[in-house]
Amino acid sequence: MSYKMDLLNAYFGYDGFLPGQERAVDALLDGRDVLSIMPTGAGKSLCFQLPALMLPGVALVISPLISLMKDQVRSLIQAGVPAAYLNRSLTERQFDLALERAWQGRYKIIYVAPERLESPRFLRFARHTQLSLVAVDEAHCVSQWGTDFRPSYLKIPAFLDTLPQRPPLGAFTATATPEVREDILQKLQLDQPVLTTTGFDRKNLYFEVRHPQSKKAELLSILRRRPTDSGIVYCSTRKAVEEVCAYLQAQDISATRYHAGLSAEERQCNQEAFAQDTALVMVATNAFGMGIDKSNVRYVVHYNMPLDLEGYYQEAGRGGRDGGSADCILLYSGKDVITGRFLIEQGESPEGVDEKTVAALRQRQFERLKIMAAYSTTTGCLRRFILHYFGEDLPADCGSCSNCKAGWEEVDITRAARAILDAVDECSGRFGASTIADLLCGKESDRVLRWSLDRKRTFGCLSGQPVREVREQIRLLVEERYLVSSQGDYPVLSLGPRAKEAVSGGQVTMRRRIAPSRPAAAGRQVPSGAPLDEALFQRLRELRAQLARQKSLPAYVIFTDRTLREMAAQKPATLAEMAHISGVGSRKLDQYGQDFLQIIQLSSRPS
Ligand code: ADP
Ligand code: ZN
Repeated sequence: MSYKMDLLNAYFGYDGFLPGQERAVDALLDGRDVLSIMPTGAGKSLCFQLPALMLPGVALVISPLISLMKDQVRSLIQAGVPAAYLNRSLTERQFDLALERAWQGRYKIIYVAPERLESPRFLRFARHTQLSLVAVDEAHCVSQWGTDFRPSYLKIPAFLDTLPQRPPLGAFTATATPEVREDILQKLQLDQPVLTTTGFDRKNLYFEVRHPQSKKAELLSILRRRPTDSGIVYCSTRKAVEEVCAYLQAQDISATRYHAGLSAEERQCNQEAFAQDTALVMVATNAFGMGIDKSNVRYVVHYNMPLDLEGYYQEAGRGGRDGGSADCILLYSGKDVITGRFLIEQGESPEGVDEKTVAALRQRQFERLKIMAAYSTTTGCLRRFILHYFGEDLPADCGSCSNCKAGWEEVDITRAARAILDAVDECSGRFGASTIADLLCGKESDRVLRWSLDRKRTFGCLSGQPVREVREQIRLLVEERYLVSSQGDYPVLSLGPRAKEAVSGGQVTMRRRIAPSRPAAAGRQVPSGAPLDEALFQRLRELRAQLARQKSLPAYVIFTDRTLREMAAQKPATLAEMAHISGVGSRKLDQYGQDFLQIIQLSSRPS
């Protein structure tokens, strides 16, 4: 076996590479720049960690999040790789100590926050040390077109310029639309990089959008159908997290919660409960997820529409990381768009950015929100929609998302369309969709009465139809440009460029769902080989939890679920056999092998 494979096995316990990894590793080993775009869970970190181990000197990894750095450094140390991080979570003494050790050449990998690149002490160190490579994690942070713009990322090229010798530069991200990709290449000044992308399609994820009357009832029925599965429910606000979690608990669902407003202890404790399957459902804001490697998440429900598809795909992508199937269900309502606009307006803008840029960033957030709303209401293939957004084109509809599976019928809505256009015309562009729908349905709602709309000629014109249906028709007419909806806080409707066609005799049709779609039942297969001994798996998890508590480590840093599953299926009888389990490197074998072996031996003894 080659040195590369030896190290891969010794430190990380893997027998081979995942798609895309080896190309990136080899390029960095050859001294080339790299741009790697791989979806969450595809194994980006290994692409720079392995070359860091093989090359002389120390690798710098630029990472935007303290929690992410901590997590990765902890995992590396467990694997026997000397690693450290330098960020503002360290006390001054800790920082001095880490830097001193770095000067002594004790580390192979150092994680730094981008702000560090300007600190004189750090710069002096970087200039006088042999750097094996520089890896930029979450590289989309360099782009104003992306979702997490960090101005300090823009300083990376200047930092590289100050070095006596420029090491190879690797940029890694899970979310990059074509614009962001282009931006990363330019802003980081990558030099003829080797591009690696594994493609964004996750075939084991099932996508579905529902427009329920009552989200609570819908959520409950989704969870009731999966009583033993573990899943995540994402909400857009802290308040919604608390409400939904309390509601589920009152229904005897084993749920816990996570958001940035909770104490660090509660967050830690709830996260642990979820990781250990003591709580099956995690209700959380998007603060939950970074660095979380729970592989058996069988569904991800979005209780609210997220702000953009990047966020949605990343969060939904936390399902099915073990390769088994997972359901990604979005519960949409028109209100989510209003909440989304509010969240964008209230959102913090990145530090060190001028007002003009802030305005431009916000504008792009609104545009992304619009696309997210389009995803939530499209009648086309959902998977195709997502992949297209990330610059990938599926040759045909996926055939397996909720829209592909639903039956559709073409309905003639010409009569309703004319009435709607008539009402919008009569109100001369002063009202939005909800008011116009109330008016047409003859509903004496507050807004109708306030503006005396019950005196309009078109009042009650569509009184036989449910308001919901009329609103849906209005949405379609906007999409098809019969109507135009204005921008701003209170979008109002006016006639669109195609309005004439409908009035002068053209037929208007609409696609309507016939049968409610059935989600594919989540699969429970083990990714490989022998059948899983569920009881043994649970005992291995208990041991892991016990060790995790002793060492104050997150359980998955010791072994991932996937590794334990493989142990429970293969049942190694000796340390040598244990070494063949994916995820068991020599360091972990030394530390934990005997303990886990003992549990396996106990369980295979006839009782
Ligand atoms: P990303 O950063 O792309 O989200 P990670 O680097 O966290 O992904 O890796 C995702 C999962 O894949 C982790 O559980 C990791 O242990 C596993 N993994 C990475 N490389 C390999 C490999 N070569 N063989 C098997 N598993 C791997
Ligand atoms: Zn589809």
